Amino acid sequence: MTAQIIDGKAFAATVRGQVAEQVARLKSDHGITPGLAVVLVGEDPASQVYVRSKGKQTVEVGMNSYEHKLDADTSEADLLALIDQLNADPAVHGILVQLPLPGHLDEALVINAIDPAKDVDGFHISNVGLLATGQKSMVPCTPLGCLMMLRDHLGGLSGLNAVVVGRSNIVGKPMAQLLLRDSCTVTVAHSRTKDIQEVTRRADIVVAAVGRPEMVTGDWIKPGATVIDVGINRIDAPEKGEGKTRLVGDCHFDSCAEVAGAITPVPGGVGPMTIACLLANTLTACCRANALAEPEGLTA
Ligand code: NAP
Repeated sequence: MTAQIIDGKAFAATVRGQVAEQVARLKSDHGITPGLAVVLVGEDPASQVYVRSKGKQTVEVGMNSYEHKLDADTSEADLLALIDQLNADPAVHGILVQLPLPGHLDEALVINAIDPAKDVDGFHISNVGLLATGQKSMVPCTPLGCLMMLRDHLGGLSGLNAVVVGRSNIVGKPMAQLLLRDSCTVTVAHSRTKDIQEVTRRADIVVAAVGRPEMVTGDWIKPGATVIDVGINRIDAPEKGEGKTRLVGDCHFDSCAEVAGAITPVPGGVGPMTIACLLANTLTACCRANALAEPEGLTA
């Protein structure tokens, strides 16, 4: 293996430390404690794990955590009423509605009911538009984490060729916007892209957000490129025993690491950065709500 491993777990710990430091300063200098409200509808096991983890890390950095667990059959009207209440609550600076929502609830309607200034997931249509037009916005956590790691590893990104594989609203598209904002030359590849390996082989930066286990292999990568693997896929691992599974990314780690200059592992790469960036976004929202300077190094 030749590639340097970009350690997202360690980076996320650093980001959380920076957030905690600034939260402590907000409390001592201004008597303000940032608050994050997380709304979970239903009992999806993966969502329950995420929400627990978010709550725990929120408290660990000194913020207030407000968890709202609603039954799977909660009506849209009741959910919207809760969001209205959180929008109006001055102790709540960030609101996150855990996705996916049960099928009877209109996700777009619910997300767009959140006050854009408290939309710490960055999914509200206003924030999407602000990001696309290069204005100050709340930025989706996963792409923000990828950007932070790229900036940290490469320094300036200006003029680099970046290929984002995947065009989802939560990862691919905002990632492309952020890279464009940092003056990369950006290509977005997707399931209809022709000769996709030719496209990625020209890239100084490859961000893979596809949801297909180990799809990107070493022969897709230009020697020395930086590879950010957003994918989280659970696959069978019979070598670990019957019925066992393991997590892999969208990149085939071993073959990519032979060619790349640097790569994020799965697990331990992008994943831990996502919650760290959620905390950073909550801090940013709190600073903006109180007309205070934005936290340095923690925004896009
Ligand atoms: P998504 O909404 O399913 O989007 C997948 C994208 O990949 C689509 O744009 C699709 O293209 C493209 N695609 C699918 N097959 C392809 C192929 N064969 N060649 C090229 N492109 C292909 O997924 P997502 O929500 O963006 O998530 C992507 C991955 O990131 C998943 O593994 C997810 O679990 C992971 N993820 C991780 C985090 C984290 O915190 N680390 C956060 C979010 C997501 P079309 O548009 O043409 O269909």
